[in-house]
Amino acid sequence: MTIIYYLAIVGLTTGDDYSSQFYNQALDSANPDSVWPPSSDNGEQQSFKYPFSFTHRSLYSAGWARQVNVNDLPIAKNIAGVQMKLIAGGIREMHWHASDEWAYVIEGQCRVTIVSPEAKGRVADIKQSDLWFFPSGWAHSIQGIGKDGCFFILAFNKGDFNDFDKFQLTDYLIHTPHLVTDLNFATTGRTFARLPKSKLYIFPSQLPGPLEKELAAVAKGTGLTPPITFDTTKIEPNVTRTGGSVKIIDRRNFPLTTMASAILTINPGGMREMHWHPNADEWGYLVRGQARITTFAANGEARTMDFQEGDVSYVPRAMGHYIQNTGNTTVTFLEVFPTPYFADMSLATWLAHTPEQLVDAHLHTGARFLDGIYKEKAVFRPL
Ligand code: MN
Ligand code: MN
Repeated sequence: MTIIYYLAIVGLTTGDDYSSQFYNQALDSANPDSVWPPSSDNGEQQSFKYPFSFTHRSLYSAGWARQVNVNDLPIAKNIAGVQMKLIAGGIREMHWHASDEWAYVIEGQCRVTIVSPEAKGRVADIKQSDLWFFPSGWAHSIQGIGKDGCFFILAFNKGDFNDFDKFQLTDYLIHTPHLVTDLNFATTGRTFARLPKSKLYIFPSQLPGPLEKELAAVAKGTGLTPPITFDTTKIEPNVTRTGGSVKIIDRRNFPLTTMASAILTINPGGMREMHWHPNADEWGYLVRGQARITTFAANGEARTMDFQEGDVSYVPRAMGHYIQNTGNTTVTFLEVFPTPYFADMSLATWLAHTPEQLVDAHLHTGARFLDGIYKEKAVFRPL
């Protein structure tokens, strides 16, 4: 339908004999703004979209993982993403890495564990639409619990992050001289005799014991880390409009995090208004629905791309953009930033707080134009 609509408004005026039988029809119908770009698009701006469906899915008996990093999406210099599924009991091996880790649970439940450099531990159970944040270097693990385990999206504040070469517990012990391991733990050679021959990464196991019991055990002697998880259902949206609502989770309500995020709900017909971010690049992930984004890259450069569930977007710092719901269902969209504090500049708010005569001198919009604009930030275009 969408293609026919674009043909009707653009095709007839271009004289293009675009014949879809020689092209990838499935991708063309999912990307109408690339096949028939709006006439406002211009220039050589590189792609800011990468579908997880294009990536290699690494399969394990207890789950799977796939990633989009700067090798797949060259514009995404400061954040990489990973999708992961763990079946009930499935463990993502105890590990650590050199970047911070932000996560959002899309479906199901999992149990996470972490230990800080201060030797404080924590265990937490987390469910759909909750977040977690693990600072770089803090050792952690994830396990699927409940009936069906969990499916989640991870973001790391390093564009060339590679989930498959992190520091794994088993790998470390396998690659340390055995005499040193025994010296370290004051053990004999028999203790580590059954160590796996290679790293585990994702593997099946039994479900963990009661949370309270595990929490008490890891807190012994040193106490607990600050909270590492965030229940997003417990906070009210920062802004609610007819077009949608947004919840912002950053250093102000989640003190441990160095990665700010916004969870957008965009109603059918709604649009996250034209804006930009003064302090950081935006890594985006479409959880539900369908949407389109145009990025304005200065110097007359602009490009429009379409997004489906499971697609990653990336908008460099200061580039103008909007997120328009192009479907009939509600959009859930995640914005993640490699900075502790969320900040955005609204085009409409900028104009609303500028002298009218000055705005009119640029845009010739007339005397009443600014009266119709929210003085507070709208975030969503009014329906
Ligand atoms: Mn990790
Ligand atoms: Mn944005």
